[in-house]
Amino acid sequence: MSSIFSKIISGEIPCHKVAETDDFLAFLDINPNAKGHTLCIPKKEVDQLFDLDKTTYNGLMAFSRTVAIAIKKAIPCKRIGLTVIGLEVPHVHVHLIPLNTMEDAQFIKKEKSTSEDFQATATAIARFISTS
Ligand code: AMP
Repeated sequence: MSSIFSKIISGEIPCHKVAETDDFLAFLDINPNAKGHTLCIPKKEVDQLFDLDKTTYNGLMAFSRTVAIAIKKAIPCKRIGLTVIGLEVPHVHVHLIPLNTMEDAQFIKKEKSTSEDFQATATAIARFISTS
């Protein structure tokens, strides 16, 4: 059975898209720790990060860097944190989280957002995605 993230890639389930290439997709986390919390995924469905082939792993990290730089420009924060967990969704994803306090990194305090908030945030980040 396809993962929920493969269903997002195929368009079966909607998302607030931030960036996309042939091999990777970035979209807002539906239950964000902080405004701008974004997930970067490979389109190839693999459960665990370190099972990715080297090319996809390196590509995912480079893609995540591009997205993190855009988030930092769009969302006021001290820094962007990067976390990989994967206990809920068995499809590799890099969490990029705008951090102001340690709590923002802890997956305990969640940010309430409307669909309009999500769309505005995704658009604001997408504007800063560098194509070079
Ligand atoms: P984990 O697998 O523990 O790294 O967590 C999975 C993350 O995916 C959580 O932060 C969820 O809020 C997020 N998530 C689950 N379903 C969706 C979805 N349909 N759209 C966006 N984010 C999702």
